[in-house]
Amino acid sequence: MTRKFNFSAGPAALPEAVLERVRDDLPEYGDTGCSVMEISHRGRVFGDIAARAEADLRELLGIPEDYRVLFLQGGATAQFALVPMNLLRDDEIADYVVTGHWGKKARTEAARAGRINLSVDTVESGYTKIPPVDQWRLSEGAGYLHFTPNETIAGVEFPSEPGAVGAPLVADMSSNILSRPLDVSRYGLIYAGAQKNIGPAGLCVLIISDEVLARCRDDLPSVFSYRAQAEQGSMLNTPNTFAWYVAGLVFQWVKEQGGVEAMGERNRRKADLLYEAIDASGFYSNPVDRDARSRMNVPFTLADPSLDPVFLEEAEHAGLLALKGHRSVGGMRASLYNAMPIEGVRGLVDFMEGFERRHG
Ligand code: PMP
Repeated sequence: MTRKFNFSAGPAALPEAVLERVRDDLPEYGDTGCSVMEISHRGRVFGDIAARAEADLRELLGIPEDYRVLFLQGGATAQFALVPMNLLRDDEIADYVVTGHWGKKARTEAARAGRINLSVDTVESGYTKIPPVDQWRLSEGAGYLHFTPNETIAGVEFPSEPGAVGAPLVADMSSNILSRPLDVSRYGLIYAGAQKNIGPAGLCVLIISDEVLARCRDDLPSVFSYRAQAEQGSMLNTPNTFAWYVAGLVFQWVKEQGGVEAMGERNRRKADLLYEAIDASGFYSNPVDRDARSRMNVPFTLADPSLDPVFLEEAEHAGLLALKGHRSVGGMRASLYNAMPIEGVRGLVDFMEGFERRHG
């Protein structure tokens, strides 16, 4: 078997060491006589897996004691609705900062559940910038402010955490969690769909402060209630045990790599390599403001779009997979999540240079 370099935006490449461990564990977990998929979520063995996953994530991100970690289902999209349902009271308004497709989706879903103020919308720039906080239209006494630190499609990332906005910060970190150090104490709530930097799709990791949790509504059906889920240790019903187990292995792997500081350094080097190649070429281009460029998702276009199918076909031949850009942006997109080694990015850059020589 030859594993190729998979640049998919998600579900995305997982570390090979994790996949090998999953393969070894699959028929029998430890000496249990059965697979991890076949054991009770209420038993000691899975209890240990779940607790270790949470402890490792807490260590990796330095999650303060007064925050809960939940392992929920329904991906990040479920949180688009559950955040306002849980956090927003009838007399409150929530601020939404829209710097890309996912923030727009979050805002559209939230508007079904409560009152929303659009604080920022960069659609007219083609989602290529992050306006500074002093340009945001903030509401007085907002229940929370929602933003998307990394927009997976446009390839726009907040260079650092936004300054204080008054309201608790709620962040959709689906496509950049664990990719660099993070000050969790700055946030009221963080959520992340798993299928980029954490594990299998469908799982969503949520980190919520006790303060925000205490304010959550308690009139929701329990399966949708953060408070009920927190009280039950995310085991109000049968959780996605397999995804939780894989996430735990990914957290162990990130620790072995040196944690989020080392990942951050590695991710910066990977992204620099690719952006430098794009900027130096004259054949490839990326439209995003330099200080808002994502280190996780790098969209780029070819000077002649009629060459797109040729590029993709030749890239696939060279073992470089899933480079097709999102249909709303066109061109290409290389996703460089934690599991993408720098060799993969070097391979891509070499291929791009060769392609330009041959076709440019
Ligand atoms: N938010 C962001 C930033 C994403 O990239 C995605 C998926 N690509 C989602 C939300 C939606 O995630 P899911 O499909 O798990 O609901």
